Amino acid sequence: MTERFTGSFTQQEPIPDAAIDAAMAVLKSGRLHRYNTAPGEHGETALLEQEFAAEVGAKYCLAVASGGYALATALRAVGVAPGDAVLTNAFTLAPVPGSIAAVGAVPVFVDVTEALTIDLADLEAKADQAKVLLLSHMRGHSCDMDALMEIAARHGLTVIEDCAHTMGGGWNNVPSGRHGVVGCYSTQTYKHLNSGEGGFLVTDDAQIAARAVMLSGSYMLFERHLAAPGPEAFEQIRYETPNISGRMDNLRAAILRPQLQHLKKQVDRWNERYHVLEDGLRGVPGLTLVERPEAEQIVGSSFQFLLLGWDAQKVQEVVRRCADRGVELKWFGAAEPVAFTSRYDSWRYAPSTPLPQTDRVLAGLLDMRVPLTFSPDDCALIARIIRAEVSAVYQG
Ligand SMILES: *Cc1c(COP(=O)(O)O)cnc(C)c1O
Repeated sequence: MTERFTGSFTQQEPIPDAAIDAAMAVLKSGRLHRYNTAPGEHGETALLEQEFAAEVGAKYCLAVASGGYALATALRAVGVAPGDAVLTNAFTLAPVPGSIAAVGAVPVFVDVTEALTIDLADLEAKADQAKVLLLSHMRGHSCDMDALMEIAARHGLTVIEDCAHTMGGGWNNVPSGRHGVVGCYSTQTYKHLNSGEGGFLVTDDAQIAARAVMLSGSYMLFERHLAAPGPEAFEQIRYETPNISGRMDNLRAAILRPQLQHLKKQVDRWNERYHVLEDGLRGVPGLTLVERPEAEQIVGSSFQFLLLGWDAQKVQEVVRRCADRGVELKWFGAAEPVAFTSRYDSWRYAPSTPLPQTDRVLAGLLDMRVPLTFSPDDCALIARIIRAEVSAVYQG
C-alpha cells in the first residue's frame, strides 16, 4: 500500500487556555491600547517586553506590530538613511529586503552557502560597500557568529539580526539576536510564538532603544515602558524622532505572555520532530542534508534539504510526487516565485547582479514547515515518503 500523509503544513497548535483567559481579561477591561493603563497598572505589553528582555538577556526590549516593522525600526534607529546601502542575505524572505526598501535604502545581496547561511568570504569582499549588515538567520540556520562578528568589527559594520526563524535558538550558548547591536523577532502565526501579527526588537544600546520606542509611537509616554532606558535617554531624541506608529497592543501581548513561558519546551518538541526527519532522510542518494554545527542551538520549526545539480524538471517531479502523497515541499528554484519562495532576483525594486553560487543552491533547495501539530510519527512518515520519491526520480 502506498502511504499518504494527511496533515496540514500550515496548521499550528491552538492558543493555550491561559492565553485565551488573559486575552478575555484584556477585552473585558476595554484597555487594549498599550498606554491605556489604570493608575498603578502595568499593561500587558510593558510586562511582555520585560519578560522577553529577560528571556534573551537584553537590557531593552520593544514590542511592535510585526517582525518587518521591527526590522525597519532597527534600521532607522541605527541611523540608516535614504540612499544608504545595506548588506543582507541573498537567501531570505521578502520582509527583509522590504524593510530596507521601507527606509529608502538599497540592499546589497551577499551569497548563501550550501549550509544555507551567509557566505562569509562574500561578506568580507562586500563589507566596505555599506555600514550596516541586516543578517537574516533564514529558516533557522546560523552562520559562525563568532567569525561573522569578527569580520563586522574589522570593517566597522553595524549588525542587525533578523531572528524571525531563530527565536529560542542560539550560537555557542548566546541567544540568537544577541550578537548584533539589535535583534529582531516576529510573533506572526508561522513563527515560534503566535499572536497573529507582532514582533520584538532587543538591544543593549540606550540611544537605539530610545529612538526605537519613539519611532514606534510612544508619544511622550515612554516612561510607561518597563524595558526601555530612563528619561535621560529621551531628552534629545524625543524632539528629533518621528512617530511611525507600529506599537503592539495589550491583546496580543496577553496572548504572547503565557506562550513565552513555554518557549523552551516548544523548542525541544520542534527539535524532536526535526531529528526524526533528519534521521529518516540520511543516506538517500542524490539528497544532501544540511549538517548543523555543534555550536548551533537549533529550533527545528522547518526542514530543508538540497538536490544539488539536479535538472529543474526532475526537482519538479519530486515536488509533484510528494504533493500527490500529501507532502508539501516548497522549491526555491522555480522560475516564478510562488507563496513565500521569492528570491533576490524576484525583488525587482532592488537591483542585483547575478549570484551564480546562490542560484546553484536555490535551484536545489526544498523546504517545508514542521508545525507542532505534526507528531514524531508523522515526521517519520513524511521522511519515508520523501525518501521513496527522491529515490524513484533519482534512479528513473
Ligand atoms: C516572517 C519573517 C519576517 C518578518 O515577519 P513579519 O512579522 O511577517 O513581518 C522577517 N524575516 C523572515 C526571515 C521571516 O520569515
